[in-house]
Amino acid sequence: MNNQDCIFCRIASKDIQANLVEETEHSLAFWDISPRQPIHILVIPKRHHTNILELTNNAPDELVDLMRLGTRIASDKSSGSFRLSFNTGAEAGQTVFHAHGHLTSKTPKDQLA
Ligand code: 5GP
Ligand code: ZN
Repeated sequence: MNNQDCIFCRIASKDIQANLVEETEHSLAFWDISPRQPIHILVIPKRHHTNILELTNNAPDELVDLMRLGTRIASDKSSGSFRLSFNTGAEAGQTVFHAHGHLTSKTPKDQLA
């Protein structure tokens, strides 16, 4: 199912290095290589699914695992104000066709006054 031509499959198999945050049985979280917010972490299923729609339809257990990981990291690392978004399709800005959520937040927890 996973393939060598997919950059996120290669990160999931540790073939390519990434700055890891956490992993679970089905999911992996790592820092985005070009962060657009002070917190910008990607959460991916370890197995290849093209986008969030495919993941939802084909592997609901993996979807739940992914959402649990993303929201847990969000509450650990952010002020509590965050986005978890899934670009789906090229027109919506998807450039890597392995399902991934962008967890972004402007205020890291350790920077709260
Ligand atoms: P998309 O535009 O598909 O929603 O998001 C893809 C994201 O993956 C982008 O934010 C991009 O910076 C990130 N990205 C692409 N290649 C790599 C990589 O090799 N390592 C990491 N850590 N992030 C990557
Ligand atoms: Zn993949």
